[in-house]
Amino acid sequence: MQYYNQSSQETLKLTTSSTQGLSNKEVEQRQSRDGFNELKEKEKTSTWQLFIETLKDPMVIILLLVAFVQLFLGEFIESLVIFIVLMINSAVAVIQTKRAESSLDALRQMSAPSAKVLRQGEKKAIPARELVVGDIVSLEAGDFIPADGRLIEVQNLRVEEGMLTGESEPVEKISDSIEGEVGLGDRKNMVFSSSLVVYGRADFVVTAIATQTEIGKIAQLLETAEAKQTPLQQKLEKFGKQLGWAILALCALIFAVQILRLFTSNQVVDMQKAILDSFMFAVAVAVAAIPEALSSVVTIVLSVGTNKMAKQHAIMRNLPAVETLGSTSVICTDKTGTLTQNKMTVVETFLPSASTNQLTDLKQADQKLLLNAMVLCNDSSFSNEGQALGDPTEVALIAYSDKIGHPYQSLRNASARLAEFPFDSERKLMSTLNDFEGEKTIFVKGGPDVLFTRCNRIFLDGQVQSLTPELKAKFQEQNEIFSRKALRVLAYAYKPAAKAQDELTLEDEQDLILIGLSAMIDPPREAVYDSIAEAKKAGIRTIMITGDHKTTAQAIAKDIGLMDEDDRAVTGQELDAMSDEELRRELSNISVYARVSPENKIRIVRAWQQDHQVTAMTGDGVNDAPALKQADIGIAMGSGTDVAKDASSMILTDDNFVSIVTAVGIGRTVYDNIKKSISYLFSGNLGAIIAIVFALIVGWVNPFTALQLLFINLVNDSVPAIALGMEKAEPDVMAKPPRRLDEGIFANGLMRIILIRGSLIGVAAIISQYIGQKTSVEMGVAMAFTTLILARTLQTFAARSNSQNILRLGLTTNKYVLGAVTFCLALYSLTTLPFLREIFSIPASFGWTEWVCAAGLAVGAVIFMEIFKSLNGIIERRRAKLVFDKKYPK
Ligand code: ATP
Repeated sequence: MQYYNQSSQETLKLTTSSTQGLSNKEVEQRQSRDGFNELKEKEKTSTWQLFIETLKDPMVIILLLVAFVQLFLGEFIESLVIFIVLMINSAVAVIQTKRAESSLDALRQMSAPSAKVLRQGEKKAIPARELVVGDIVSLEAGDFIPADGRLIEVQNLRVEEGMLTGESEPVEKISDSIEGEVGLGDRKNMVFSSSLVVYGRADFVVTAIATQTEIGKIAQLLETAEAKQTPLQQKLEKFGKQLGWAILALCALIFAVQILRLFTSNQVVDMQKAILDSFMFAVAVAVAAIPEALSSVVTIVLSVGTNKMAKQHAIMRNLPAVETLGSTSVICTDKTGTLTQNKMTVVETFLPSASTNQLTDLKQADQKLLLNAMVLCNDSSFSNEGQALGDPTEVALIAYSDKIGHPYQSLRNASARLAEFPFDSERKLMSTLNDFEGEKTIFVKGGPDVLFTRCNRIFLDGQVQSLTPELKAKFQEQNEIFSRKALRVLAYAYKPAAKAQDELTLEDEQDLILIGLSAMIDPPREAVYDSIAEAKKAGIRTIMITGDHKTTAQAIAKDIGLMDEDDRAVTGQELDAMSDEELRRELSNISVYARVSPENKIRIVRAWQQDHQVTAMTGDGVNDAPALKQADIGIAMGSGTDVAKDASSMILTDDNFVSIVTAVGIGRTVYDNIKKSISYLFSGNLGAIIAIVFALIVGWVNPFTALQLLFINLVNDSVPAIALGMEKAEPDVMAKPPRRLDEGIFANGLMRIILIRGSLIGVAAIISQYIGQKTSVEMGVAMAFTTLILARTLQTFAARSNSQNILRLGLTTNKYVLGAVTFCLALYSLTTLPFLREIFSIPASFGWTEWVCAAGLAVGAVIFMEIFKSLNGIIERRRAKLVFDKKYPK
């Protein structure tokens, strides 16, 4: 039995469904029988495998070898400590990877597809994974089809199913049954999971879900999306590799110098042990100096950022986007619903007789025609609970009808719909064929400028008359008057249809009889005013790109502060007439693009990109997908089509412009925080290297033992760096110009900060060793170690901001940093315990005086860091202001 051979009624019977959809009880039963409508994800790398992965690092392998050799030589405690340090390091790495993975999973679930389904006679949106066989699903342009099914009602449905059939052109679908056995591509009354609705609408009954679908048979497993690396991660990886080689060269040098000294010194030593110790030390230097935690810290900070953004209604679809978003310099945004509330209310109507601006008397033929056109050529409705379903523009029309005492439902009951040609934003029209007062009648509504060109007659004074240029001008003038008041205007027309007509085509939208206009308000979102101002302060230009009328768009743009006095508004048509050169010249003067086509959108994005601006663009329709892909950050509306979402790197769950600006702020903070983690890690490592190299040059003993270095690496690496990644936004985060996307890792003074902080830590450790050495060589080492570990720990406070000092930030404002510092100090205090201090080479004579001296040096280093930071902050602010003033002279 093949469903396509059956009629739609038979299919409903076969799937034990009905035109009312399934009951909740049936759904539950089917779900427990068939499971969820999803393909299983490929097995993730197990925790154990991840752990093994961490042991494959060359550094770890060398350390393991050293530990085994030491075990062999009977140095149990040393080798045990190495094992413990390695295990803890690996465990931390595994925990970090798992955390990042699960937050990415959570994001993926948030952007999971949904389906519009009819259950118990009620339409609702549910997650597509909850569909069962027998469900009635509605489709419209832009939807990905969520399961396989047999079509039961079709309105000009065209579907792209090339991934299954290889056919590149969209297929026209039907609801009639098909005779005989045919291939997938010819099953025109079926739709298949994962294909895409490019046009029209339809209802289908689900016949197969999950692995039973055609696509499920091919791909039993869903590929888990690979985590893409961000530009910063790529740069860091490249830099990390170079740094790694440099450090290895340094370690080889340290080893060589020590061996040379060993052979040239007159002291009698155990050669074998001394060589092993030197080797161990060289390895420990490498471990301590290479910031191996860096890449996982960056991933974690990015994923923490995505969680924060999700709470602010911005779902990032990949990590690189988080970074790019922070450097956005132009936001091209839709108007309706994004800048405005999308709460439309009809405030006025216009009829050529101009007797009234409200519909008060349906006995008047023109008023009756207009209200019927508003209600009949309309797909929206109210649910039993009074919930508005459908396009807000259309909902406003039926709400108006209800409000003036003519329930929309009774008008619809009186004039059954026979066919429709759905609205699309390119045509800017919609039409229906209705049985109106016993005559087949075509109603058309749409953008006035478009509809006027399709009309050659007008309904005036109770009869059809020719549409004279004067009458047309009167309509155009009224359209302008409404538009200047920022009202959204729709025009309505009709014409009688032939008795035999039961379908609608494009040709039917010609030679129409103009009826009248409706005008509705759609107030701007309240917070949009502040957001636009905030974006401006942050050096981000906001551009409105709308399908709406130019005058309406302009009126709103001026009101919300998006458009300045000398800015221009252009229509898609005007844009088409501009050459690339002209557009380039005019680009920065144009704030509003009205009546745009999808091609216009791509052209605008490209033009801004050629001007080296990082461009974000919003979109929701099928045709927006290419522009969303082209933009540096494509932003799909949560209420938009699946295709738009698929092409975007960010989804706005509340469709709100304000959330875009908020997300940019978070993106900037994330980047700032990553830089803080980087500066913390590099400075600390540099400090250790400076002390080691200094001792080597002046001929002191190594300031730290290998074990101490490994221990410091464990204590001071990832935990404080991650805590720094949780830092709140700096107060001036949205008062700076956008970061350039190609900006180097160490730009804007970061290198200077690292050099200063690293040197301060290094010098503190050197002084500490110097003072300690006056007592004994061992005391020197103990003191240098204490200073290094404490200076690195306390540096966490300094690293909280690269411009604000710690007192201004408030010592306790980042509880993660407090936690991380406590963790480091607790681990450090282990080294002072009676039994353990020997392992860490702290002599018994190391008392309070030595500790206070070593700790004092560490604190001193951090105080100096703060002093230098203040100076650096002054320099940076001056520089940033100069750059900003030059770029935005206004
Ligand atoms: P934006 O691009 O900012 O979201 P928009 O919502 O006005 O603006 P579209 O939805 O593409 O953009 O609408 C374009 C034009 O089509 C509108 O200005 C209006 O004239 C007309 N229009 C909008 N909705 C309908 C509809 N449901 N039926 C008929 N015409 C419509």
